[in-house]
Amino acid sequence: MTEFIPPARPLIGEEERAAVDRVLRSGMLAQGPEVKAFEEEFSAHFGLGRSCVAVNSGTSGLHLGLLSSGVGPGDEVIVPSFTFAATANSVALTGATPVFADINADDFCLSPAAVEAAITERTVGIMPVHLYGHPADMRSLGALAERHELQIFEDAAQAHGASLGGTPVGSFGSFGVFSLYPTKNMTSGEGGMVSVATPEIERKLRLYRNQGMEQQYKNEVVGFNNRMTDIHAAIGRVQLTKVDAWTRQRQENAAFLSANLEGVTPPPVAPGAVHVYHQYTIRVPQDRDGLAKALRDEYSIGSGMFYPVPNHQLAPFAVDVDLPETTRAAAECLSLPVHPSLSRDDLERIVTAVNTLAKAGA
Ligand SMILES: *Cc1c(COP(=O)(O)O)cnc(C)c1O
Repeated sequence: MTEFIPPARPLIGEEERAAVDRVLRSGMLAQGPEVKAFEEEFSAHFGLGRSCVAVNSGTSGLHLGLLSSGVGPGDEVIVPSFTFAATANSVALTGATPVFADINADDFCLSPAAVEAAITERTVGIMPVHLYGHPADMRSLGALAERHELQIFEDAAQAHGASLGGTPVGSFGSFGVFSLYPTKNMTSGEGGMVSVATPEIERKLRLYRNQGMEQQYKNEVVGFNNRMTDIHAAIGRVQLTKVDAWTRQRQENAAFLSANLEGVTPPPVAPGAVHVYHQYTIRVPQDRDGLAKALRDEYSIGSGMFYPVPNHQLAPFAVDVDLPETTRAAAECLSLPVHPSLSRDDLERIVTAVNTLAKAGA
């Protein structure tokens, strides 16, 4: 029996277990010194050059980041439709309207031309997603934002360590959010890290995170409890010491797949971009679902579809816009395993399976 190759696998070791135990023994479980240390270490590790604020998920990071940047009812924020629902959800939760724009045919990220066409007098910001770990076109989007006096909000949930022209993602916008969900490139169990451009946004984020208080019983705004616990932060701090090696392994795995897969277009990397391969996504123009099923049933290989239903077609949003590249990507995208625990045998099995099935299907 061939062992199943999962599409993702969180890596938790003795060091993470020991760190959790240390916190449990301390008796101080909620947000405390571990969270503070994690915020500082995260910013330094990824060279963000700005403050970071830890929260309990990537989604709440996006939500609080938007609130702290002044986004609210009546505003529009331009988002891709080809992304995880958290992107549009976070905008809608502020009372603002997510406006869906199409993606580039090559890198699956927001198309600057499509964004420009979607700008109205209500637009206050653009939320690019560094999808699959590839940086969005921040040069063009940044220039566009400047020309129209818009803010940039980065959804870097999948892109820890990705960069463009030497600048790390998460340091281009008013804020940038990294998710720490178990299947992301590093985890804290659940969690999110928000990198912030200004002390004002940072202060508001810290207020919203904790009931609107900086000092107890001196509430300044209506706030949430979106704090990270010290238990989660302790896991994240250990993962920070491992994530670079995992990223290198992801990049090596991607290089192997790209060199050996036949008849499929490898995921492109823009000039000056560092891709951290949260996903390794190919296009399967004919019968993608059949290929995914055959990989699983005949070769015991898991794969993923991120995302088969574009956000503009989800029930809570359901808007009638024509996004041809989004529609095409949703029908064709297939993510092959690329995670750091793949062995050389696993990689060869994936290559053989995809090449054989692609040939049989042609
Ligand atoms: C995972 C993810 C999020 C949300 O992060 P959570 O930590 O799961 O809340 C947001 N955007 C994208 C693109 C994601 O992949």
